[in-house]
Amino acid sequence: MRIDILSAVPELLDSFLNHSILQRAQKNGTAQIIVHDLHDFAENKHRRIDDYPYGGTSGMVMTLQPVEKAITQLTKERHYDEIIFPTPDAPTYRQSIANTLSTLENIIILCGHYKGIDQRIRNHFITREISIGDYVLTGGELAAAIITDSIIRLLPGAISDETSALTDSFQDNLLSPPVYTRPADYHGWKVPEILLSGNHKDIDEWNMQQALKKTKQIRPDLLSNDDAVIE
Ligand code: SAH
Repeated sequence: MRIDILSAVPELLDSFLNHSILQRAQKNGTAQIIVHDLHDFAENKHRRIDDYPYGGTSGMVMTLQPVEKAITQLTKERHYDEIIFPTPDAPTYRQSIANTLSTLENIIILCGHYKGIDQRIRNHFITREISIGDYVLTGGELAAAIITDSIIRLLPGAISDETSALTDSFQDNLLSPPVYTRPADYHGWKVPEILLSGNHKDIDEWNMQQALKKTKQIRPDLLSNDDAVIE
C-alpha cells in the first residue's frame, strides 16, 4: 500500500514514520509512505501556501494552487483510491473506516493548517473527510499520523502476530479484554486462574465475557452499534 501525505510542515512526521512498526512496514515493503512539502509546489517567489481569508475573518487559509499542483502531479502518476482531508468538521474516525482504508492500494492524505483549506479544494479533489475527534489541532499532521498508523497496523506483514490486530478493541464492536504477562504472581497480585489453565476453549469464553463486561461498563453505545465492520 502507498500513502502520500501532503504537508506544510513535513518535519512533524519524521520521527513518527521512522520508528517502530511504521518503520518496519516500510522496510519490509508492506507500505510505502511518502511525505511531500506543499511549499515545493508553490508557484510564487516566497513559496507561500497561505493567504488572507475572504470576508475578513481572522487567521490564514491554505491556498488552492500548491495543493492542486501536488494532487494533479500525483494522480497523473497513478490512480488514487481516496484523497483524504482530516478536518474537525467531518464524520468521526472509527475502526471500521480504518478497516476499509487498509484494503486500498494508494491514498493521499492532505494535512490542513491555519484556519483550514480553501473550500474549493474540498469540493473538487477530496473524496473523504475524517475528523479524529471533537477537538481542534493546529495542523493535520497528527491526524494523518493517526490515520496512517491505524491503517498500516492492519496490513499483513506489519505486526508480527497478524491475528493480533483482529482481536483489538472495536473489531466486533467490543473493547479488548484485559491482558496479563509473567510473573503469574507479583507481590500477591495474581493473574486470573483460568488464563493459566491451558484450556483454550474456556479461555476464549472468559475473554469474551470480560470483553462484554468491560464494553457494557465503559462503552455501552458500542453494543447497540450495528455498523458494519467496514464502511
Ligand atoms: N478552522 C477549522 C480548524 C482548523 S485546524 C475549524 O474550525 O474547523 C487546522 C487543521 O488541523 C485542519 O485543517 C485539519 O487538517 C487539522 N485538524 C484539526 N483538528 C482536527 C481534527 N479534530 N480532526 C482532523 N483534523 C484536524
